[in-house]
Amino acid sequence: MTEENLEIMLAAEDIERRICELADAISEDYKGKQLLLIGVLKGAVIFLSDLIRHIKIPVEIDFMAVSSYGADTTSSGVVRIQKDLEQSITGKDVLIVEDIVDTGLTLSYLYDNLANRSPQTLKVVTLLDKPDRRKVEFNPDYCGFEIPDRFVIGYGLDFNENYRYLPDICVLKQ
Ligand code: 5GP
Repeated sequence: MTEENLEIMLAAEDIERRICELADAISEDYKGKQLLLIGVLKGAVIFLSDLIRHIKIPVEIDFMAVSSYGADTTSSGVVRIQKDLEQSITGKDVLIVEDIVDTGLTLSYLYDNLANRSPQTLKVVTLLDKPDRRKVEFNPDYCGFEIPDRFVIGYGLDFNENYRYLPDICVLKQ
């Protein structure tokens, strides 16, 4: 794939503007609280890095890595934890930070898994949402952009580990 095959869906300036709005809403909602952001590796790394620099309250961060597996990885609904948190979240205000909600299977698994660890509160922020692709009901508490059913790359999102470095969110042209 060459960069000529890329079509910009969301430009870097638009992403930055929206992240500022999300950060303002989160700062307001969690005022006076000690927020723990849990980034889902690897796709959410760039989103989380930009988000925390605009949030105006103290935050801690931790990371989890999960992978879907099974005969059909997109519909199996089986999620495996590859890297778990380094701390207990019992009694904490926790916000899961995800790059994109697609079928909803990954986040509904992750949400239930973390809810079982008795946090004080548990919410989800996703940069992107593809509601047309949902297989299980899942509504993120904060969402950057709803996008159509296209496979996107850039700004942390990959295709075979490529393109995460792109500043814009792009579609690979066929
Ligand atoms: P879900 O379990 O909601 O179907 O999938 C969530 C995961 O699938 C995301 O965290 C992401 O890793 C991957 N994914 C879903 N849609 C896309 C997409 O359009 N582009 C990329 N790069 N990954 C996607």
